[in-house]
Amino acid sequence: MTCYDDNLTGVVRMFAGELGSSITGIADAGILNEALENDFRPEDVLPGCRAVVVMSLHIPDGSLEIMRRGKSNYSYNLFGYAYLNRELDFLSYRMSNFLEERGYATVPVPGRSCSIGARRPGYGMISFRHAAVAAGIAAFGLSGIALTREFGCRQRFIALPTTAPLRPAGHLMEQADVCDGCLECISHCPSAALRLSPPHECLMGGKTFKYARSMLEACRVMHSGLSTDVWKGAQFNPNVDVPMIEDPTPEQKYSQLWEQRDARIRLLEHSESTFGATICGRCMAFCSAGHRAMQNRLRPEEQTSGYADSQVLHTDGALRDLNPKPRRLGKELLGIKC
Ligand code: SF4
Ligand code: SF4
Repeated sequence: MTCYDDNLTGVVRMFAGELGSSITGIADAGILNEALENDFRPEDVLPGCRAVVVMSLHIPDGSLEIMRRGKSNYSYNLFGYAYLNRELDFLSYRMSNFLEERGYATVPVPGRSCSIGARRPGYGMISFRHAAVAAGIAAFGLSGIALTREFGCRQRFIALPTTAPLRPAGHLMEQADVCDGCLECISHCPSAALRLSPPHECLMGGKTFKYARSMLEACRVMHSGLSTDVWKGAQFNPNVDVPMIEDPTPEQKYSQLWEQRDARIRLLEHSESTFGATICGRCMAFCSAGHRAMQNRLRPEEQTSGYADSQVLHTDGALRDLNPKPRRLGKELLGIKC
């Protein structure tokens, strides 16, 4: 029988809150070991790992709302991505020290965990979103992004494997608790990088989660700012369409990013040392779960003000109302009755 230290679990949760974590959870390492592929399991990162501490930071709603209207992506790039990753590094460093001081091995995973030269492009040492779902604080939306009740898609997570005997979540959330199947994430993707036919299936903790398969190269073209299709009509849209190459080499990717891209993007990333801020993020910006969570937190008299749904930038470059309604395929996948 597994023995947990409830006192330490409470202290860890409290310390995470003091560090500024918006939502904190503990995942059972065994659940993740079963759900994830070899090389990417907590056990691979830290032999003897018993738990994974998951912390999160809220992405300011204003940074996404101004991007949805095509006015500026700089606020999101910094406060939703690059700077937020630095803040997550702060949480990771402090929490891992905290646990090591108490005698438990812990890996301080960086906020931007994707490692250069990794055998699988786009994979970090541990999947933060899978850890958040295993910690019972989130469920996968059909986009594949982990959604919480509090913020929908509007947070970033960090996950630290540890040998500390922390008590994990008692149960996992259902997808339909947070995702309504509206498919706005998919309809606003400029490169059809998210595909639901068929969906990816992830078995975790006795539940099956379904979400879109992600075409990483199609997404890379957009999130790296290589195409004018990414934010068509936006004030910050890149000027240059970089010629696409099938299956590019690392050298070709370097050339695309640092020699052929819109100079505004390159200068921004250099001057702010943002380590490559993304410029797409539409699947996050248009997710109705995030917008709904924001509306629920706003004062009633504020809900129809500057953050109303109206006039968002669609993939054809036109400003039109966004009026997300659950779609049949989305509802069917989530088991929601039509
Ligand atoms: S970041 Fe952009 S291109 Fe990539 S999946 Fe999301 S919407 Fe599609
Ligand atoms: S946009 Fe809609 S379908 Fe996609 S993840 Fe968000 S709530 Fe779910």
